[in-house]
Amino acid sequence: MRIVLLGPPGAGKGTQARRLAERYGVANISTGDILRDHVARGTDLGRLAKDFMDRGDYVPDDVMVRMVMERLQEPDARDGFILDGFPRTVPQAQALEDALAEIGRPLSAVLKFKIDDELAVKRLAGRWTCPACKRTYNAEFKPPRVDRRCDHDQTQLVRRGDDDEVTVRRRLEVYRRETAPLEFFFWERGLLREVDAEGTEDEVTARTIEAIADLVDLSS
Ligand code: AMP
Repeated sequence: MRIVLLGPPGAGKGTQARRLAERYGVANISTGDILRDHVARGTDLGRLAKDFMDRGDYVPDDVMVRMVMERLQEPDARDGFILDGFPRTVPQAQALEDALAEIGRPLSAVLKFKIDDELAVKRLAGRWTCPACKRTYNAEFKPPRVDRRCDHDQTQLVRRGDDDEVTVRRRLEVYRRETAPLEFFFWERGLLREVDAEGTEDEVTARTIEAIADLVDLSS
């Protein structure tokens, strides 16, 4: 199973990617998480990416394509993957399509998570993230059991630097300009399914599985 998750920031792609990867036993590849890890470690890539990320802008395509191609060659991605946050531009989508065609393993499905902008802003403005397991919480909609501690591993939760309202609105604008055109790119290939991303995590997971079942034989 090779799946791409599309959708604006705040749509819940990260949460659903983790659930799907666990359920289907495939690699969960989040380009945002990989970049944040590089930033935290102060690598060359991290230093290059940081300013773009802080502003809510995209990291250049050539850098992203190289990073993802390397990641896809790791053994855990061989049996399939959930790509969260890539591709985000038409050149990235084209590069991914070409690379997968070359190895004869095309994408199985592209799921577009649909959410109202104002709800996305609310979700992200109140978001707290576990730096260890990447689970997310929300001060209003999904508070952790113990204040600012991850329910899963008790790590101290953090706010992402790009989750303030001004940067979130910038990220939504960049999404609309750069990433929304990908919907047509994948629709043309018969791969796109839309998922209503409002509601509880369980509700969205159920809708997501239904959308996947429309394109992938899940019976085996
Ligand atoms: P995310 O965690 O997916 O919201 O990504 C956080 C930030 O990382 C984005 O706002 C971009 O600056 C950068 N980023 C992640 N994935 C990509 C990508 N495919 N192309 C360009 N920039 C990306």
